[in-house]
Amino acid sequence: MPTIAQDLELVKARIAQAAARSKRSVDDIELVAVTKTHSAETVREAIDAGHLLFGESKVQEARTKIPLLPSNLRWHFIGHLQKNKVRHALPLFELIHSVDSLELAQAIDRIAHDDGLHPRILLEVNVAGEASKFGFEPDKLRQEMESLLALPRLSIEGLMCIPPLGQDAEASRKYFVTLRELRNRFENEFELKLPQLSMGMTNDYTVAIEEGATLIRVGTAIFGERRRAHSEVRHLA
Ligand SMILES: *Cc1c(COP(=O)(O)O)cnc(C)c1O
Repeated sequence: MPTIAQDLELVKARIAQAAARSKRSVDDIELVAVTKTHSAETVREAIDAGHLLFGESKVQEARTKIPLLPSNLRWHFIGHLQKNKVRHALPLFELIHSVDSLELAQAIDRIAHDDGLHPRILLEVNVAGEASKFGFEPDKLRQEMESLLALPRLSIEGLMCIPPLGQDAEASRKYFVTLRELRNRFENEFELKLPQLSMGMTNDYTVAIEEGATLIRVGTAIFGERRRAHSEVRHLA
C-alpha cells in the first residue's frame, strides 16, 4: 500500500498536470487535505510530508483533534455548521467553506462581533437543486446577497459546491461550470470580488481545476477510504 506521503505526491502531481492543461498557475490552487474520521496520528504523516492545510467537517471532531497537532497548521471547515457550534468553530478555522443559509451567516456575524473576530467565509451553493443537500439555491442566493454583504464582520471570499456524487468525474463538470458562472455573474452584478471557488473532491478534483477551482477538498485519495463512508456522504449531502 502506498504511504500517505506517496499519495500526497501523486495528488500534487495530478494537480500540476491539471493546472498545466488549463494554463493555470499551480500556485492559484490550494489542496485542502480532508482529515475527517482520521486520527491525529494519521494527520501527522501528512504533516511530516510537508502538508499544512487541512479540512474537517464536524466541529466536535475538530475540537478534539486540532489541539493534538502543531499550532502552525491551517484548518478549513467544510461541513454543515450548526448555529450552536459557531462559537467553538470560529477560533479553530481560518476559512468556513460551507455557509449555507442567511440565518447561519447572521449567527456567525453576531458571534464574531461578540468575540472580536472577522471570519472569512465561502457561500455553499446547491448547484444541482438536490433536496437532500445543504446550500443556497442560486436564485435565493441572488436575492439574499445584499443582506449577506451587509453583515459587517464577514469577509465573503467566494463560492463552494458539492455536486451529486458520481463515479464519473466528467459528470461533475457542468456543476463546476455553473458555480464559476454564478460567481462571475455575482461579481458583475454586485461589483465585488469572489476569488475563491471551492470545488472538487477525490473523484473529480482534476476536472474542478480545469473549471477554475482555487480550493480542492481531497480526503480519500490522500488518507484512504473512510470507515462509514456511505452514511457520512449522506450526512454531508
Ligand atoms: C469528506 C468531504 C470531502 C472529501 O471527500 P473525498 O471524496 O474523500 O475526497 C470534500 N468535501 C466535503 C464537503 C466533504 O465532506
